[in-house]
Amino acid sequence: MISEREASKYPFLKEAASLLEHLEIDLEDLTEQRYGPILDRGEERVIQAIRYGVVGEGLSDDLAELLSFPIAVMLVSMMRDPFLEKRYALAEAVRARRLLESEDEGRIAEIAIREFGWRIRVQRREMDDTIYSFELHFVDYLRNSSSFREDKWRLINRILTEGYVLLTKAEAVRLLQVEAEEFISRLSSRRVELNLPEPIMKRLERIKRILDESRSRLGELALPPEVIHEAFPPCIVHSYRTLTAGGRLSHIERFTLASFLVNIGMEPERIVQLFVSTSDFNEGLTRYQIEHISGLRGSRTRYTPPNCMTMRTHGICHNPDNLCGKVKHPLSYYRRKASELRKSSKMR
Ligand code: SF4
Repeated sequence: MISEREASKYPFLKEAASLLEHLEIDLEDLTEQRYGPILDRGEERVIQAIRYGVVGEGLSDDLAELLSFPIAVMLVSMMRDPFLEKRYALAEAVRARRLLESEDEGRIAEIAIREFGWRIRVQRREMDDTIYSFELHFVDYLRNSSSFREDKWRLINRILTEGYVLLTKAEAVRLLQVEAEEFISRLSSRRVELNLPEPIMKRLERIKRILDESRSRLGELALPPEVIHEAFPPCIVHSYRTLTAGGRLSHIERFTLASFLVNIGMEPERIVQLFVSTSDFNEGLTRYQIEHISGLRGSRTRYTPPNCMTMRTHGICHNPDNLCGKVKHPLSYYRRKASELRKSSKMR
C-alpha cells in the first residue's frame, strides 16, 4: 500500500483514497478535538486557493495533509459555487504539479498510467538541444493540451513517432496538472446532501466571507488607484471579466490585455497575479512574458496592444460602443474616457 507520505503529496490518487477508507473516520468524528488540525488544514487549503490561486505543500504532517484533502473538497462542494470549484481544482492541481516536478520519470509515468490511463512511455532522447523524457499517445496528448493557446502545444508543432508525441519532463507534468485539475473539479462539483455538524458549518461561513471579499478583489484585481476601471474599452472589459472568472483567453487576447494594463500603469507583478486563475498558468513563464511586454527584458521595448482594426480582424473587438466609433486604438479609448470621467467628477 502507498505510504502516508506519498498519499499526502497526491491525495487525489486512488491509492490515497483507499488509504483513507482504511482509516474509517466519519463526519461526526471530525468534530473531536484531536481532528482540529485536520479541519484547520482543510479550511486553509480552500482559503489558500481563493487568496493565492495555489494550495501550499503543507507536508509537515502527512496524515493531516492527507485527511484534509477530502475535507477541503467537501467544503468546496457544499459552497455550491462554480467559480470556487474551478479555482480550488486549479490551485490543488498547481500544488500537485510543483510536487511532481521533483519526482523521477518512472514515478511520473506510473501516476499517469495508473491513475489516468495514459499511454505513456519513459523514453529519453536528445534532439535539437532539447531533452525529451516521454512518449505520449497523441489521443492522450490532445485531450489534455486542447486548452493551451501557445503554438508549441499544437500537434502540428510536435515531434511524433508512430502516433506518440515526444514530451519533456516539464511538459508531461504540465499535462498531468490538467488531468488532476479535471479530476478534482469533478470531485468538488459533486452535489451531496450532508448534515454538517455546527463546527464545520462555522468554517463554511468563514470561507463564504473570504470568498465574497476576494471575489470583488479578483474582479477589480488590485487596480492601482490611478487606473480608472470605468474607462476600460469594451474589448478589455470583456477579456478582463473572462480572465477573472477563470475563463480562457486566446493568445492575442492575453497579449492585448497584458499590454493594455502595462500601458495604463499597472505593475507587472499585479498583472501576473491577474493571470493566476488561468488553467494553464505557469508563473515563471507568465512573469517572463509580462516583463517582456513591459520592456523590462529582451529588446527593452514596451509593447502596446493592437489597434482596433487588428482587433476586429482577430474577432476580439467585443461590444463596441459609441465612443469606439471615434477612436482607432483601445488606449485612445481609455485616455478619452478617463478624461471625460475626470471632468465630470470635477463638475459635481
Ligand atoms: S473599437 Fe477598439 S476600443 Fe472599441 S471595443 Fe473594439 S477594439 Fe476595443
